[in-house]
Amino acid sequence: MIAADFALRNAGTLYTLAGPVPRSGRAMADLGSHEHAAVAAHNGRIVWVGADGAFDLVVKLDPGSTVVDAGGAAVLPGFVDAHTHAVFAGQRDDEIRRRLAGATYAEIAAEGGGIVSTVTATRGATAAELETGLLARFDEMLLCGTTTAEVKSGYGLETAAELRQLEAIARADAKHPIGTIATFMGAHEVPVELRGDRERYLSMLVDEMLPEVARRGLASFADVFCERGVFSVEESRRVLTVARDLGLKLRVHADELCWTGGAELAAELGARSADHLVYVSEAGRRALADSGCAATLLPSACFYLRLPRYAPARELIADGVTVALGSDVNPGAGLSPSMPFAMTVACFAQGLSLEEAICAATVNAACSLDVAHEVGSLEVGKRADLVVLRGTRLLDLLRVGIGAIGTVVKTGRVVVDGGRRVEAGAAA
Ligand SMILES: [Zn+2]
Repeated sequence: MIAADFALRNAGTLYTLAGPVPRSGRAMADLGSHEHAAVAAHNGRIVWVGADGAFDLVVKLDPGSTVVDAGGAAVLPGFVDAHTHAVFAGQRDDEIRRRLAGATYAEIAAEGGGIVSTVTATRGATAAELETGLLARFDEMLLCGTTTAEVKSGYGLETAAELRQLEAIARADAKHPIGTIATFMGAHEVPVELRGDRERYLSMLVDEMLPEVARRGLASFADVFCERGVFSVEESRRVLTVARDLGLKLRVHADELCWTGGAELAAELGARSADHLVYVSEAGRRALADSGCAATLLPSACFYLRLPRYAPARELIADGVTVALGSDVNPGAGLSPSMPFAMTVACFAQGLSLEEAICAATVNAACSLDVAHEVGSLEVGKRADLVVLRGTRLLDLLRVGIGAIGTVVKTGRVVVDGGRRVEAGAAA
């Protein structure tokens, strides 16, 4: 018998997403569904997946075990959010209203809005304030089914404030059920006070910030906003090369507002992920496919920024690129913490099937973060991170606002029950 201390019983359909990773092309649509299934876990890791009818013959539950009855509902892996800027202070309500009145991202940024306004508020926040804000956002994400999330710095743009953001991520990670992957993104923007001396800021990034981040082990990834008017391809290459030499893995904000060659750069440098890709070129798509660099798409950002187009998701899938999804939680354009919302926009604005969107929000997002050996699918050895819908119908995930998710399990512990957060504030 297999010993377990957690069981999920009576799943009407269990979507495991088990199998080789990453998934590309047609394989994205195969969710690996099992009718009348069950899952058992021990110490937070899955020890058995099989037919519910076989459970009692195979699994022996420890006294005091947690047993979740799915009641015939659909069950799938916890969502993996591959791109957030969830640690920040302040709000940008005026900017959002101005965007509704027709102002573009570039116009708002030119007038001191956008990232710059969040930098001012974040520099003024204490570490405790940053942590409290992040924990509140993590709760929102958890209620939407996210059990693993990437979080970037990038609103400090000076060494102390960038480190404070990364420290807040580490503390929130230790306290909250959501598993966190930290990314250093000091190259999110050039701070206002150094706009006349870009070289000085680039030197700070490569000589001061990156070595300190690496030395203290505060981030797994480094990221650069490679975009016209932000960091050029050459500047991005310089920062990312130093980061790579220091042992950090790479991600790139690429081709979001216009084509710059960011995707090609990400592929060239062996980045794990190129993100946004609204204006990715055909050559960029091919380079991503050839290098195995994931394309992390952020359709919610296109939606909230009112961009005139979305990333070419169908072409990326046809080219064999590993397509992943993120929420892009941030104070300007990332208003929804919900991966089901990102999936909804991916389906209805970018033409993904529901199955492809689920794959992009689970196992492929885990690949883009290099944690697919731990999360993203329901397989023996991986963490018991589960989303239990309220009903049998998978399509309910795309019905925004109905509260389709009833229960969320993180490493074998119930953290959302009946659509409400439980264990609030408890240490993970
Ligand atoms: Zn971003």
